[in-house]
Amino acid sequence: MSAFHSFAMVDCAGGNDTGPTPRKDAIWMGLVRDGIEARPIYFRNRALLEEALAELIEAETAAGRRLMIGFDMPFGYPQGFAAALTGADDPFAVWDWLAAHIEDSPKSNNRFEVAAGINRDLGAGKGPFWANGTRTDHDGLPRTRASYANPFPDRRVVETHARGSFTCWQLAGAGAVGSQVLMGLPVLHRLRTRFAGRVRVWPFEPLDAPVAFVEIWPSLLREAMARAEAGSDLPRDAVQVQTMARLLARLDAATLDRLLEVDAPEEGWIFGLGHEDLLTEILSAPLAPPPLRDDCFALPAGVNWTPVDEALALLETRLTPVTGTETRPATQALGRILAAPVTARRSNPPSPNAAVDGYGFAHAALPAGDPVLPLTPGRAAAGVPFGGTVPKGQALRILTGAALPRGVDTVVLEEDVTQGSNAIAFRAGIRPGSNTRRAGEDVTAGTPILSPGRVLSPGDIALLAATGASEVTLRKRLRVAVISTGDELVEAGDSAGPGQIYDANRPMLISLLDRLGHVPVDMGRISDDRRALRDALDRGAQMADAILTSGGASAGDEDHVSALLTETGAMTQWRIAVKPGRPLALALWQGAPVFGLPGNPVAALVCTLIFARPALGLLAGAGWQVPQGYDLPAGFEKSKKPGRREYLRARVRDGRAEVFGSEGSGRISGLSWAEGLVELPDGAVQVRVGDPVRYIPFDSFR
Ligand code: AMP
Ligand code: MG
Repeated sequence: MSAFHSFAMVDCAGGNDTGPTPRKDAIWMGLVRDGIEARPIYFRNRALLEEALAELIEAETAAGRRLMIGFDMPFGYPQGFAAALTGADDPFAVWDWLAAHIEDSPKSNNRFEVAAGINRDLGAGKGPFWANGTRTDHDGLPRTRASYANPFPDRRVVETHARGSFTCWQLAGAGAVGSQVLMGLPVLHRLRTRFAGRVRVWPFEPLDAPVAFVEIWPSLLREAMARAEAGSDLPRDAVQVQTMARLLARLDAATLDRLLEVDAPEEGWIFGLGHEDLLTEILSAPLAPPPLRDDCFALPAGVNWTPVDEALALLETRLTPVTGTETRPATQALGRILAAPVTARRSNPPSPNAAVDGYGFAHAALPAGDPVLPLTPGRAAAGVPFGGTVPKGQALRILTGAALPRGVDTVVLEEDVTQGSNAIAFRAGIRPGSNTRRAGEDVTAGTPILSPGRVLSPGDIALLAATGASEVTLRKRLRVAVISTGDELVEAGDSAGPGQIYDANRPMLISLLDRLGHVPVDMGRISDDRRALRDALDRGAQMADAILTSGGASAGDEDHVSALLTETGAMTQWRIAVKPGRPLALALWQGAPVFGLPGNPVAALVCTLIFARPALGLLAGAGWQVPQGYDLPAGFEKSKKPGRREYLRARVRDGRAEVFGSEGSGRISGLSWAEGLVELPDGAVQVRVGDPVRYIPFDSFR
């Protein structure tokens, strides 16, 4: 085993949880989970961190992922200390000793007393620990180095190589790390013991388990960290752990293995020491999804009219997601695209509970014949559990959703009992477990619930909430620039001269993009002028991830979109065998895919729905989405020639698909009339009233 899937990097603090929030030197965790970078996570105190790490270990190992956790603190002390303190030259003996002696509540801890005690026992009250951050004097703990004497080396071997590192003996003062080691190692000890068999500690053990603890020191990469801090408005510690997590996640398995090869069995080592240049270089590579390939719109040579299915298959194989990710509250994620798998943190239901209002009892203790059970005083309700045990042979009043108390495994429905003053009677024959819900019968903690690419529905939001997910990693919204071209176009509301028409495509495409969940970027109208078009495409590529143009996509004199794209070598004319729709121009303009749509509004809409919509979904990270259609009896007659697929503006009335009276490509009223499309196959068909035809409602294009 070598590869890790997830990386959590922690900057632990040594102090107490007092004062304002967020505190400057509190605890931050940087997290890249299964390839997805989360926002750094803030913890007020070590207890919260410990719980979160335990949950993370549970979740990642349950999902079969290997997790590396980095801690910004020495895992061992300089040589000789372990043996003097514990009798064994074993770093884990020190962890164990500290866990037994350190008391840590969020508001107070005894680190200075413990250090002073060690000084008295091992160093005649003069060292190895020094500096005191509190007002109280501690007998044996020097405040300064004046009377200091250290029976052990002042630094670990690794620190003699690490410029600017602090000695672990110094407990207080700017930059000191001593306190966080004393306070942090017990946390590591508890996690290591709690997850025995799942956790290995570098470099003391071979990393042959799912989870590895690794010592990190962000200051090792001082310049890279400074650059990252300058480019972020997060606190310094947050940026550092985020940057470390990003760095670790970028290392390939072989490099990671190589960097993990060190020999420091007692003192430990700082990950990456001696490889600073390599790590800095890896960090400075920009973090973005890989760009689309230059030839992504190339068509096989010699093809004349490409059938619709082939065109779609080409788009599906050529395009990849281009959007980054962000973490958002789950409650704000409706309609957004999930970027990372979600695993249930909690089971649903979390504990066995009653499915009805009634009476609960132990099935095994039921008497023969029709039971009459005395009632235990009290009751169990949803959110108000019954704390005691229900004695064998008795029943307890229980309401829907209440956790089953000890002594109850079966519930009889209230309507099925006769109630006396202190007892209930019902018919024999109830089955064990009746009217109860098992813990996890819906969802078990640790199982995957939602996959990347999922467009989140209200039901998904409920599932996330019920299983304890408050935040989700989402794809950033795809930004799509919209440009209309044509000398004849004016803006609705402006005065229109002879030969001028109002721009209908741009408002249509902008509202459609909005409904598809993308961010439309309105680039306005461009006249039939190559320079202006070039500028607009430049700006579009800068402001958006993809560009939709309409008009000028054919091969005529004024078809400047196709002319410009051809001239710059960016374009392929896709002559797709579809009606309506003249050639679709597909190009990559400065890395941004351009969909050059026909100018006719009907053709523009059909081409967008059929070709651009699934392509944009893929770019956005939602995967390739096929619209759901239905076979319905036709309410029309039509004879269609072979050679191209046809889409008719349609709607359903009285269970039949009717189509718009005119097939004219400029009939915008038909777009408004229609509620979907009828799709007629590539070959010849003779449609008679009542024949099945494929109807795709506009709602299916989402
Ligand atoms: P083109 O593809 O530029 O030759 O345009 C084909 C037809 O669509 C022409 O009749 C144009 O006037 C019309 N058209 C082009 N763009 C738009 C638009 N944005 N809104 C309405 N009609 C348009
Ligand atoms: Mg035009």
